[in-house]
Amino acid sequence: IINRTDFESALGEMTPAFGVAEEALERCITGGIIKYDQTVHQILDSGKDIISAVRSHTPLLSVLLYGPPASGKTALAARMALDSEFPFIKFISPQAMVGFNDMMKVQYMQKIFMDADKSPLSIIVIDDIEDIIDWIGIGPRFSVTVVSAIRALLRQNPPGDKRRVVMTTTAQREALSQLNMLDRVFNAQIPVPNVQGLDALNRALAKGGMTDREAEQTMALVESEKGSQISVGIKKVLEAVQISQAVDMKSEKCAEVLRAFMVSQY
Ligand code: ATP
Ligand code: MG
Repeated sequence: IINRTDFESALGEMTPAFGVAEEALERCITGGIIKYDQTVHQILDSGKDIISAVRSHTPLLSVLLYGPPASGKTALAARMALDSEFPFIKFISPQAMVGFNDMMKVQYMQKIFMDADKSPLSIIVIDDIEDIIDWIGIGPRFSVTVVSAIRALLRQNPPGDKRRVVMTTTAQREALSQLNMLDRVFNAQIPVPNVQGLDALNRALAKGGMTDREAEQTMALVESEKGSQISVGIKKVLEAVQISQAVDMKSEKCAEVLRAFMVSQY
């Protein structure tokens, strides 16, 4: 059981008045950002455009990064936030709110936005928004309290000439559509696709730590079973490489792990 005092002291510890959540964000990018495809450049460029608009004049821009599980949404949002070099950068994630009831969540987020309001330029990443609002697709069910608070926070301009970027990630864009949030809350939506096709997979494997030969062999195994129309999240590709590093038959192991996560059509 978490009582009020615990909660208040936790708030105090978690959110200093100013500062950058650099460490929390770095931890989201432990696999780096591999340029396996042109789309990766395009996503980073879209993010840069949004951040420069806010740096130069726009009071508030809110962007949604959406895509299948493991496609790299969190890492890309974290990379863009860190690259902004804004004086205030914060990472809001469901993990930081484990055990919070709805009111605690709302207060926690409101505090972060209030702190951001003190900074001339701020960027707030809201990760896995569907989990923060307790979205359950059946019903559907969700926390009305948290949804209305987020809606208000995302739409409210920072005071005076302060300016802000909010980057939200989701694997459930459909949830936000049903909540009527897509057009009304977000200024831009950036799709984050899986690694698609053999060429992109080959580059991801090689840059993820395999030798060219291991990557070739892995590809051949994957293709023989799944064909060339393959699609898999970058996070899964890197996990497959990691797991295979520890064994003798690297390519076989890697292909086996990949196959389990692969969508055969895209
Ligand atoms: P989930 O659906 O579980 O939230 P996700 O889509 O948020 O997953 P991440 O948690 O961002 O995926 O995992 C991506 C991992 O892959 C990170 O470790 C990141 O460093 C690494 N990575 C390598 N290249 C890229 C890339 N081009 N884009 C995104 N992440 C990349
Ligand atoms: Mg994520």
